Amino acid sequence: MKKLTIIDNVFIGLHAMTLLGVLFWLFFGPRGAEYPSRIYLYIETAVFVFYSGAFTVLLATKPQLKESLYKIIIILDLLFMTILIQLTGKEYSVFYLGYCIEVAFYTLTFGFWPGFGISLLSLVLYVGTNLPALSEEHWVGMLIRSGFIMAVALSVGYSVEGEAREKREVKKLNEFLKKINEKLDKRAIELHAVAEMASIIHSTLDFDELGRLIMDLLKEVLHIKDCSLIIVDKKSGEVIFSAEEGLSSKKCGKEVSFLVGKGASDTESFVSNSGSKEEIVYFKCIPVLGQHVPLLSQEKMTAALCAGAGAIDKLTEEDMFVLSAVATQLIIALENFQLYELTQRLSITDELTELHNYRYLQQRLKIEIGRAERYKRSLSLIMMDVDDFKPYNDAYGHIKGDRALAEIGKILKENSRELDIVARYGGEEFSMILPETDISGAFVVAEKIREAISDHLFVGEENKRNCRLTMSFGVASYPRYASNEEELLKAADDALYLSKSHGRDRVYGPKEKSSERSF
Ligand code: GH3
Ligand code: MG
Ligand code: MG
Repeated sequence: MKKLTIIDNVFIGLHAMTLLGVLFWLFFGPRGAEYPSRIYLYIETAVFVFYSGAFTVLLATKPQLKESLYKIIIILDLLFMTILIQLTGKEYSVFYLGYCIEVAFYTLTFGFWPGFGISLLSLVLYVGTNLPALSEEHWVGMLIRSGFIMAVALSVGYSVEGEAREKREVKKLNEFLKKINEKLDKRAIELHAVAEMASIIHSTLDFDELGRLIMDLLKEVLHIKDCSLIIVDKKSGEVIFSAEEGLSSKKCGKEVSFLVGKGASDTESFVSNSGSKEEIVYFKCIPVLGQHVPLLSQEKMTAALCAGAGAIDKLTEEDMFVLSAVATQLIIALENFQLYELTQRLSITDELTELHNYRYLQQRLKIEIGRAERYKRSLSLIMMDVDDFKPYNDAYGHIKGDRALAEIGKILKENSRELDIVARYGGEEFSMILPETDISGAFVVAEKIREAISDHLFVGEENKRNCRLTMSFGVASYPRYASNEEELLKAADDALYLSKSHGRDRVYGPKEKSSERSF
């Protein structure tokens, strides 16, 4: 059984009080010829008790019928009241107050207009059943009593309506505040996610992993599914970064770089064929937050989000802020990464010849000797020096000398394997590490390079390629002539000295065969 509400209890209580009032009248009320027989009142009271009891039971057991039950009982009550008034003194009956109670209750429970309707019905019943009184001198009393019924309906209705209006306004305000709260919550989540993303972006160089994290963020915070994020180098058209979730970033990257190259507007679309499926994909350029990124980056890179038209159209200003913040941080990270790579490269590269530098040669020689030792393999080193380079410089100038050195670097690279490490040792001296190569193999390589150099025509007089240069070579190998990198460098250098002292333009190995070692 469902618990009754306060309103239900008040209504049932009013019925009990009405019953008490009727019983009181039955026993102590006036008697006389002008009153109908009390037997009718007993019958009516019994009917009243019956339907009030049935109402209470139904209300408690079938709460879903509540509204209908109230509508029915109010009509029954009005009819009961009308008959009761006829049986207890007509226009003089005190029970007309019952109308006021019904009207007040109905208005309180169901609002102004239903209450007003019930008050009109009460009036019709009250006045209609007491018409003779109107034509007599009692009409003043009737009018006042009718006025009371209306006054109750209007005053209760007015206060109820006022309260309802206030409630409606409070509800509206609450809804407004709720919406603002939701927005603020969303914003807080977004800002938190962006801050987290920024710290991740700057703490890793693993851009694949980063792509996955960014896609997770977009899915979680912006609720965008099936999209890819592309960052394109505007000048070269190269896709520097791409991440995807259900939409091929490879295909999108190609299209975006093509469209950006053509000077695409902020939002463009293209047709994507994946297997047999053909769909239109939209891309939206993401503005980079200028104050955080050097102008160079803004001009260099474009960030774009590719997704279906629906997802792109749904993007709000706040979503764009999140995307901008993420793209900006990403571009900064990519820029830093490129700078890092450049400095890394510069620190181990010789600018003039684009070969490795002396520092790198030292590092790699140590590593390669360690490897040769572990795998019991041979390793050779060639030291090279341009013959009579000073006279060449003096004759044609340093600029041509530099150019000749760069050309030599190229020849060395062309005559080496992927595995070999070619370096400019300093000045006009070069060296080459040949992993997994013994001394005879090193001789072959050195001889090949020697021939290539002596065959090459360098720029000489009148800017014509009419000048030849030669190089001297010293080769040594590990472990045959040396047990560590210093000894190997010295052995190759000594061999180079031998080559110079024996007339240049030749290849020499270590003289002291007695120091030969083997594994
Ligand atoms: P050798 O056959 O004995 O090696 O004679 P060389 O003239 O090549 O030897 P030397 O060591 O006397 O001179 C090396 C010259 O190489 C000195 C300098 O003019 C030139 N040289 C060294 N580094 C550079 C460079 O970076 N650019 C240019 N243009 N010349 C360089
Ligand atoms: Mg030299
Ligand atoms: Mg020289």
